[in-house]
This record gives sequence, structure tokens and C-alpha cells, in this order.
Amino acid sequence: MPRCSVIVCKNNSCIVNYVKDGNPFHTFPKDPKIKEKWINATGRDPSWFPTKNNTICSSHFEPKCFQPLKKVRRLFEWSIPTLKLRMVLMNYMGPSTSKVCFYSELDQKDSNLNSELLTLTYGALVSQMLKETENTDDVNKQLERIGYNMGVRLIEDFLARTSSNRCLEMRETADKIQQAFRLYLNMQPTVTSWSSSGDEFSLVWDQCPLSEWVEMPNNGLKYCALIPGAIRGALQMVQLDVQCWFVQDQLKGDAVTELRVKYIKRLEDAIPAGED
Ligand SMILES: [Zn+2]
Repeated sequence: MPRCSVIVCKNNSCIVNYVKDGNPFHTFPKDPKIKEKWINATGRDPSWFPTKNNTICSSHFEPKCFQPLKKVRRLFEWSIPTLKLRMVLMNYMGPSTSKVCFYSELDQKDSNLNSELLTLTYGALVSQMLKETENTDDVNKQLERIGYNMGVRLIEDFLARTSSNRCLEMRETADKIQQAFRLYLNMQPTVTSWSSSGDEFSLVWDQCPLSEWVEMPNNGLKYCALIPGAIRGALQMVQLDVQCWFVQDQLKGDAVTELRVKYIKRLEDAIPAGED
């Protein structure tokens, strides 16, 4: 009985309509490079290797991967599973190219990102860092720093695309951050809980493409530390020094995720780009 090898997928031959769908189970490809990507996509332990009976089901492939339907459903040879893959953090997700892949995704100027791919590659990045350092605090710091460096680079793009000027008061800053979430992450956080002095507010959201399908180990990891880092980096470039921290986190069982942003001071001179 064919069964999909992706760890969180429940598809097996009992619940699939063969007549309508053709054979929706695909055996692993021969090409070693493509095969490795399929193995990574299963989310299984690195020691796992497919036999010729193992398959991945059609639900993990984009429509463009399929040849015109004849009796059976066939993939093109280059096809790689990218859909409905859930990240289980403690599973090693594979090759060191994940970092490269993640960066090149984010480097693309048109932010027409495939959010599933973004989730996948971000998850791969985080799990690889955990594997390499095993110290959660270090991973949190690294993620914050990657975010910071992204923020430093993204701000020019943001200002250009939104024709914003740089004079930013905190209320206006909150609007701009909200806009940036929409632009780069396709997210709609709410701005709320202003302090009486107007120097502190919260961004609240209940869905984030970075953490979709993520299961968190209970070890103090701040999975989305990239986001506060990016806000901090971007605002430093417009001479605003802020502090940013998570008050609530859905990945830790809270109903929503709440990120607090606090104004610290206005900076005199621009910080040179990049902490790296
Ligand atoms: Zn499947």
C-alpha cells in the first residue's frame, strides 16, 4: 500500500481516488541531487534513506511539476516537493545550501515570495543553527542579527517603494512598520497598546508565514527573532534607536503573537551598514 513519506502527511492509497487522480504516489527520483532534495523534504532523520517502495504524494508538488495527465500521473524529472511540508525543528533538514537558498530568496527585489518556500527555508536555517550550536541563546542572537542586517538593507528599498520620507515620529513609525509587514511578509499585524507617553506600542498578529507549520521545542528558542532584528536594523538607518521584544508568542501557546516596540533615542549619525 503506497504511503507518502513526508512525515506529517497522512496520504495513503486507501484515501486516494486512483481513477480520478491517476497514481498520485511518486517514487523517489534517480538523479542523486534531486533525490537528496526529496529526502530533505520528507523531514525525516538524516539516516533515513528511501527504498524503491517509498513515495511522495502529489499534494507536495506544484501544478507545473506534472506532465499532461495520461493513465498515470507523471512528474517531470526536475520536480521537487515544495508544498505542505511541515517543519519539525529538531529534525535536521539537510544541506548547508539552505542558508544560501534562504538569502537568495530574500534578496529578490520583487517580494513575490512563495511563502511556503520561505517557511521551509527559514525552518531549515533555524534547525541547522540549532544543530550547529545547540545553545538556544546563541541561536536567538544569530537570528536577531540576521534580521538586523536584513533590516539595514531593506530600509532603502522600503523608502523607495513607499515614497516615504525619513522624518519619523512614533505613531508614523508604527504605521510604516505595519506597511512593511504587509509588503515583505504579506502579514497584517494590528498596532495596539500604546503607552500613555506614546513612546511604546505593540504589534499583534495571529498568522506569520515564517512560523506556519512549525512545532517548537520547549527550550527558550525565539523562533521569529528575525523580525524584531529587522525592525531594529531598519529603524537605526533612519536614526531611530528602538528596543523590540516578544511579549506573547503563539509558538509557546499564547493566543496571539505580540511584539513590543519601544523608542529609546534619536541617533545623531547614520550607523554604517551591516554588523557583519
Ligand atoms: Zn504526502
